[in-house]
Amino acid sequence: MELSVEDTFKNELYKKYESLEKVLIPKPEYFLLINEQSSAKSHQGYYLLSKYEILQCGDVEKLIRRRKSNDDPIQYYVHIEETFDVIKRAHIATGHGGRDRMVKELGKKYANVTRDSIELFKSMCNDCQRKRVRPMTKGVVVRPILSKEFSARGQVDLIDMQSLPHGSFKWIMVYQDHLTKFVVIRPLTSKRAAEVAYQLMDIFLLFGAPHILQSDNGSEFTAQIISDLKELWPELVIVHGKLRHPQSQDSVERANYDIKDMLVAWMSENDTADWTIGVKFVQFRKNSSFNAGIKQSPYATLFGIEARIGLSSSSLPHDVTQKLQTEDDLLAILSSSSTQPDTQPLPEMTQPTSSIDKKRKLAIAAQQKKAERVVKRMNE
Ligand SMILES: [Zn+2]
Repeated sequence: MELSVEDTFKNELYKKYESLEKVLIPKPEYFLLINEQSSAKSHQGYYLLSKYEILQCGDVEKLIRRRKSNDDPIQYYVHIEETFDVIKRAHIATGHGGRDRMVKELGKKYANVTRDSIELFKSMCNDCQRKRVRPMTKGVVVRPILSKEFSARGQVDLIDMQSLPHGSFKWIMVYQDHLTKFVVIRPLTSKRAAEVAYQLMDIFLLFGAPHILQSDNGSEFTAQIISDLKELWPELVIVHGKLRHPQSQDSVERANYDIKDMLVAWMSENDTADWTIGVKFVQFRKNSSFNAGIKQSPYATLFGIEARIGLSSSSLPHDVTQKLQTEDDLLAILSSSSTQPDTQPLPEMTQPTSSIDKKRKLAIAAQQKKAERVVKRMNE
């Protein structure tokens, strides 16, 4: 009989367990640890108390990393049997993210998911194996343009979906803020400037409009969009970015490949061809997961806090949140908890401006560093 992917993964972790006894925890041992922890009578008692803590949530008990104070974030230990599901959720939340993106995502909530297990999982994901090989970009590297403010410079590009139309939709519009890397993705029926302008108007009336608009489709295209926008919104003044060296399209093209791959994976996960809904999920996954260029998520750079998927993003255990329905259910769980899981706005919410400021500065510094590396490479 052929083993399922999940069973194969579990077996591999059990093989690794032989040399990683302190990190990987088989399910029976997990519950043993919880029991010993609550009685703490065994000779191991002291060691256990220094390493673990029990989180009681309703009738669910979870093993978490011992915290110095109750304000420290809760990090769950996972047992081998549940590791597959935990990694799978993070893998999907990051839009089939690579190892680093997943390490960041899992590190927020879990204490013992190893890099090794993450790599193993990724190597077993069919959608990831199916990803197209990206064309290598070669040639001159061009000094990157840097933005120091949100909404200083925006880029609008189109992805051709004519080979995979859905209803009358044949194109995808990607608008990206240059500093925060925050993206807005919309399905389009055509690549006409008027249709793009209409979508941009909607976005700009929500987030504000940038000073400069640029596009890899050329300055003529951008100029036409701006003039169409002006008809809809006469006060609006935007200039179009100068035509950049074609090779500088590199990073944007790669981002668009990324979007198409994430979209294909979403369609396969959900067994649907309706990518006009898929683009909205891809947009959220891209914005809420770690971006190496700015060393944080675009969402956090824009809003100062991480994007939430309701209570799924709280520090309550996953199996507990799945059963919650009413506010009373939530209050009952909170009052029965041994420690106050974090379901309230994060402390940094109280000082949003300074928090956002810090995050933007980090994004600017990260992009400056990247630009310096590019320039150094040019001069070598
Ligand atoms: Zn994958």
